[in-house]
Amino acid sequence: MTRSLRTRSMTLLLAPGSAAMDTGTVSVSVLIPVYNEEDNIAPLCGRLIPALDGLGRSFEVIFVNDGSTDGTEAELQRVASDRRIRVINFRRNVGQTAAMMAGIDHARGDVIVPMDGDLQNDPQDIAGLLAKLDEGYDVVSGWRADRQDGFLLRTLPSKMANKLISTISGVKLNDYGCTLKAYRRQMLQGYRLYGEMHRFVPIYARWQGAKLTEMPVRHHPRRHGQSKYGLERVLKVVLDLVVVKFLTQYETKPIYIFGFAGLMFMGLSVLAGIYAIYLKLVDGISFILTPLPLLVTMGLVTGVMCILMGLLAELLVRIYFESQGKSHYSIKTMLNFDEPPPPDRSLRD
Ligand code: UDP
Ligand code: MG
Repeated sequence: MTRSLRTRSMTLLLAPGSAAMDTGTVSVSVLIPVYNEEDNIAPLCGRLIPALDGLGRSFEVIFVNDGSTDGTEAELQRVASDRRIRVINFRRNVGQTAAMMAGIDHARGDVIVPMDGDLQNDPQDIAGLLAKLDEGYDVVSGWRADRQDGFLLRTLPSKMANKLISTISGVKLNDYGCTLKAYRRQMLQGYRLYGEMHRFVPIYARWQGAKLTEMPVRHHPRRHGQSKYGLERVLKVVLDLVVVKFLTQYETKPIYIFGFAGLMFMGLSVLAGIYAIYLKLVDGISFILTPLPLLVTMGLVTGVMCILMGLLAELLVRIYFESQGKSHYSIKTMLNFDEPPPPDRSLRD
C-alpha cells in the first residue's frame, strides 16, 4: 500500500509534461505552491482574482498544496468554487520546487506566472510582468528591491548568494530567489526541477538563448503563518548551483571534469615522486620521513579513482540518453522536413 502510494506521488513529480494536454487554452496560468498557509488563502484570492480579472485575459490559478497539515486543503476546497481556481493536493510535503514542477506540468496557459502563497508578492505586479513579456522578452524575473524580511538572517545571506550565483552562472540578475516571475510557456518545457532549483530556471532559459530581463516588484512582510526556510537554504542553493553548472556543462561529457581532476592528482603524484628521487640522488636525503611518499600514493590512487569514476559516468550518460531515446541537442525549428524527398534521378537514367 505504502509502496503504491509512493509510486503514484513519484510519478506526479517525475513524469514529463504528462497532463499538459490542453496547453494554450488560457492565456495566463498563475502557479502558487502553498504549505501550511491556511490564513493566507482567502486574502490572497481576494486580491489576486480582481487583479487577474483586470488584465482582460483568460486565466487560471493553480494552487499546489504541498502536503499541508493545517486547514489549507479545506480553504482551497472552499475557494475552488470559482472554477478558474484549480487545486493539486500532494500526499506529503516534498518542497516548493517539486510543487512548482507539478504546477508547470498541469498548467494550460501560454504564460506561466509563479508566485508565493503568503501575500509577500503583490498580485498587482502581474500586469507589469506581462507587459514586459509583450515587449518581446521570454522571461521576466521579479526583483524584490525593497525586501521586507529580516536583514541579518534573510536579506544579507540572500544578497551574498545572489552575487555568487550571478558570478558562477554568468547570468546577471539581482534577485534569483523572488518567486514572482513570468515565463513564456516554451521556456519551461523540457526541464525537470529538483532540490531548490526553481530559482535557477531563468539561468537555464538564458543559457538556451531566451531573452531575459528583471523588473522591480513590491514585497510585503509576512502577515500570517511562518516562513518555511532558515539559513540552511543558502547552503542548499549553493550545492544546487554546483549541480546545475555540472549538468548543463558536462552532462554529455563527464569524463572531461573527472578526467581533468584525475590527471591533476596524477600530476601531483609524479611531481612529488620526482622531487623525492631528486632529494635522494642529488642531496642524499632520505625521503622516507617526508610527506612525499604519502603524496605520491594518495595522488596516484585518487587520480586513478577519478578517471575510473569518469568512465563510469560516461557509461551512465550513454545509458540515460540511449535507453530513453533522448537526444542531447535541442532543436528550435526545422524547415522543409515534412516534404517527401526529391525523386532519385539516378534510377531513371
Ligand atoms: N512552500 C511550499 N513547500 C515548502 C515550503 C514552502 O510550497 O516545503 C511555499 C510556501 O507556502 C510559500 C512559498 O513556498 O507559498 C514560499 O515560502 P516562504 O514564504 O516560507 O519562503 P520565504 O518567503 O520565507 O523565502
Ligand atoms: Mg514568504
